[in-house]
Order: sequence, then structure tokens, then C-alpha cells
Amino acid sequence: MTQLGHRRTGVFWFNLVSTLVFPLAVQWAKRRQRKGLRQGRMLSPEEMRIARSMGVREAQRIRVIETDRIPLPGVGVLGLASRIAGFHGSDPWGMSLGYAVFIRNGWAGSRQELLAHEFVHTAQFERMGGMRPYLVQYLRECLTVGYSASPMEQEAVRLSLGVR
Ligand SMILES: [Zn+2]
Repeated sequence: MTQLGHRRTGVFWFNLVSTLVFPLAVQWAKRRQRKGLRQGRMLSPEEMRIARSMGVREAQRIRVIETDRIPLPGVGVLGLASRIAGFHGSDPWGMSLGYAVFIRNGWAGSRQELLAHEFVHTAQFERMGGMRPYLVQYLRECLTVGYSASPMEQEAVRLSLGVR
């Protein structure tokens, strides 16, 4: 009984938070994508090949933004929610918002692999039909099973592993 009660409360909060936060997150991501597309550079032929091999259909639309800090929502309800979800815990090295791929300077590992990982997210975005379905699914997975166990995250890790 207690467990059932807890679960119901959990579902209630999850739905409430989702209803409040998801539209804000989608709005934020769309705006950030637009800005990124203006600032970023086009892919090199080499990167274009990697993007296609990760399943991106329209690789020519991708722009890479090399930055010292991956942009995350800092203020308001969304900033609070992304902190609670743990997105601020460790500074991410890459982030894909549709065709805008943000890469943080200073990555010590394989650059191709990092890019490939983000390109998988771009391919997921294309496959799912845009920012809203992509982001809602991603956030749902992160909030339920957690970031590293999320199937979308696992697909990105699996496909990009060892890419040269
Ligand atoms: Zn990822």
C-alpha cells in the first residue's frame, strides 16, 4: 500500500513537473539551436562522412559551435529543473540541439568520437521528427532511468565508440 501510494505521488509529481518544464525546455532548445546555427561552422568533408555514418540524413545542415562552455539554462524554472536533473553536475563536453552541435574546447579524447556521439543525437532528432519529440523523450528517459542508462544515450555511446 505504501509503495503504491508513493508510486502514485511519484507519477503525480513527474506529470506536474513534465507539464511545467517540457514546454520551457523545448522553447529554450529551439532558441539555442537557432543561435548555434548562426554562430557555428560547417562540417569538414571528414566530419560529414562521420555524420552520415552515424545516420544523419541532412549532414549539410549541421553547424559545429566550439565553445569554452556548453550552454545550459541557468535561470528560472528551467535552470532549477536542469540542476535537479543533474545536468549541471559535471560540465558536459558536447551537446546536440538538433543541427546545432556544441563541443567544449579542451577535450582530451578522440575528437571524432566526441563528434560522432553528438551526431547520433542529431540523427535521433531527425528520426523522431523534431525538437519537441526528441527532447521530451530524452528528458523522460533521463528523469526515469537516469542519464547513463537512457536508451538514447546508450545508442550514442554504442555507435560512436571507436569511430575514426
Ligand atoms: Zn549523449
